[in-house]
Formats: sequence, structure tokens, C-alpha cells
Amino acid sequence: MTTPASTLITGIAALVTNDPALGRGPLGLIEEAAVVIADGRFAWVGRAADAPAADAVHDAGGRAALPGFVDSHSHLVFAGDRTAEFNARMSGRSYSAGGIRTTVAATRAATDEELAAGLARYLREALRQGTTTMETKSGYGLNTEDEARAVRIAAAHTDEVTFLGAHIVSPDYADDPAGYVDLVTGPMLDACAPYARWIDVFCEQGAFDADQSRAILTAGRDKGLGVRVHANQLHHGPGVQLAVELGAASADHCTHLDAADLDALANSDTVATLLPGAEFSTRAEWPDARRILDAGATVALSTDCNPGSSFTSSMPFCVALAVRDMGMTPDEAVWSATAGGARALRRSDVGAVTPGAVADLALLDAPSHVHLAYRPGVPLVSAVWHKGEQAG
Ligand SMILES: [Zn+2]
Repeated sequence: MTTPASTLITGIAALVTNDPALGRGPLGLIEEAAVVIADGRFAWVGRAADAPAADAVHDAGGRAALPGFVDSHSHLVFAGDRTAEFNARMSGRSYSAGGIRTTVAATRAATDEELAAGLARYLREALRQGTTTMETKSGYGLNTEDEARAVRIAAAHTDEVTFLGAHIVSPDYADDPAGYVDLVTGPMLDACAPYARWIDVFCEQGAFDADQSRAILTAGRDKGLGVRVHANQLHHGPGVQLAVELGAASADHCTHLDAADLDALANSDTVATLLPGAEFSTRAEWPDARRILDAGATVALSTDCNPGSSFTSSMPFCVALAVRDMGMTPDEAVWSATAGGARALRRSDVGAVTPGAVADLALLDAPSHVHLAYRPGVPLVSAVWHKGEQAG
């Protein structure tokens, strides 16, 4: 099948554009809408009645449409399984196996082909649920060879690759955390930077403290990588302040924030990326999205898809959780899962349905984007265009 030069998608009951200049409210909502796709981009966006002709026509049949989801935080280069750990946690039993270390051992033992096949599978799974941009991280290799392999495999599948050698102190350096920081900021960074756009660190009690995190992030920044931080997830800590200090694109988790953290986020370009799948899957305290939004900070929603603490690839599920349990309105949650994710990746070409943007579009078997929260758990995404091509 040859791709037509231009495709008109019409019959859209309600279109989220995320451009207030194109439609109503912050979502730039257009009723009875249409779009024209050409050369992988949106060529025209507006009312169906005004649509220009195109080489091919797709009738959305009164469905709602929105930009493809931008999932700005996942950990998909891994092998193995943590079902037993999850089952024990949810059954109220203690479980003393190694957590991340379990996944590190399985990932090191896997072949390149196994890791690539797993990553491709989860990206396809996410695409079926409307995710057209997905960041993913290393962090289960924790030695130079296996971290470099992880970012190399990731780079073959997505443009948004993050080097997370500083996920935890490598088990190989259990007695020498300073030596591990030297490795991460030295040979490991040298090996990984060519394949990565971002550097990240787990700034948390038991992982990396403020000084270690600053050393790792500034080393990455000096190599040209953008900065992201796992911040304030399990406890209050220095992560958010450090993220803002270093001009990070995103501070991720943001569950335990004080007034100074809120103020720092609100007066910066650092996006607060909230990952409700993690709190859901660990029965932890929810981040207070309402408080963060009311402070004036920008919020993104993401899955944190990983085998340990949030094994969901579903952005619709995260939207529903954010509305139900984090105080977001449906409009805010949909914005955060699309335009918010784009901000967290410093991307202006995705997360919006505007002329010139990458033609990433999800159709819902529903008349409104609100159904993403109103009908939780229902597979509403019925068609996806990714870079102008219909997926599936
Ligand atoms: Zn994470």
C-alpha cells in the first residue's frame, strides 16, 4: 500500500489541539473538527466544514481525538520479572529479594536480542494505547558495558534516551559508592553519552545524595546531555531543588514537596512529572497534583513503566488515576499527558495538534477526551497515527 500524499481525517466530534489559538480553553478544543496530514505532519487543523480536499479521507465517525500521548519517563530496557515481589507486597507479606538488583542480574544475563525484543514489545503495547513518543532509560546494567548496551539498544527504538547509570549504587561497588560515582561520571558516561539525549539520577535516601547527584548530573551536562532527576519520590529530599538549580527539564515523582520546592518549580522551566502508576503499584501516598498546579508549576503525567514499581504502559490509566486520586481535572490530566510530557522533554513538535507538528493522533471510541477518566480501564483508543502513518 502506498501512502497517499495527504490524508483528511474528518468527523472528529471533539479534537484536543492543546493550542488555545485554535479552539476553546487551554486544550484548544474544536468541535466537529478535521485535520489534514501530509509528509508526516499536520498540514491543516480546523472545523470539518472548512476542511480542504485531500488525496485520501478517513471518517472518524464522531469519535474524539487528541495528540498522541507523550510518555516522558519509562525504564524499558530490562529482562526478567518481578511478579513474586509484587504479589508479596500486595498480599501483605514481606519480601526480601533484591528489588532493582533482581532486574540488574536478569538484564546482564540477557542477550541484546532479548532486550531489544522486550523494548519493542512494550513500545508497541504503549502505541496501541495512544502513546506516540516514549522516553526510556538505562539503569539495569550498572556497569559500563551493560549501561552502554542499554542506551545503544534504546537509541535504535526511540529518540528520547536517558542514561541512568545512577539508578542505584551498583552491587559491584556496594562498599565503594564514591568509586561508583567516579565510574558513572567517567568511563560509563563516556561510553553512554553518544547514544543518550538525557542524564538522570535517583536522588533519594539509599541511592544518591545531593552532592553525588550534582556531580553526576553536571558531568552529564558538561557532555551535552539534558538533565532530568528522580526527585522527592519516597521522602522529602534535595532532588527538586537540585533539578531547578541545574536547569533540569523535569523533576520526576515529586511526591514529597515542601513550600520551597513548590516555589522553586513554579519559578523555573523544570516540569513536575507525576507518575501515579508507581503510587498505585506500591500503595504509596499520591503526589498532590492540585497543590503543584495551584502553585503555578507545569505538570506532566507519565507511566514510569518498569518491572518493579509500575508495570503499566497505559497513559489512559495514569490520566484516570490523576483525576481520581491526585486532584486533577480531566482537562488538566489530558494536557499533562500530552503537552505536559512534551514540555518535560523540551519538545515543541509533539504533544499538540497544530499545523507543522508531527502528525501523532489518537482516536477514542468516545465522544470526548473526558471519557479517558470517566471510563477507566476501558480500551478507548481505537486508532493511532504515528508520524503521519496509521499504526496497527
Ligand atoms: Zn523512574
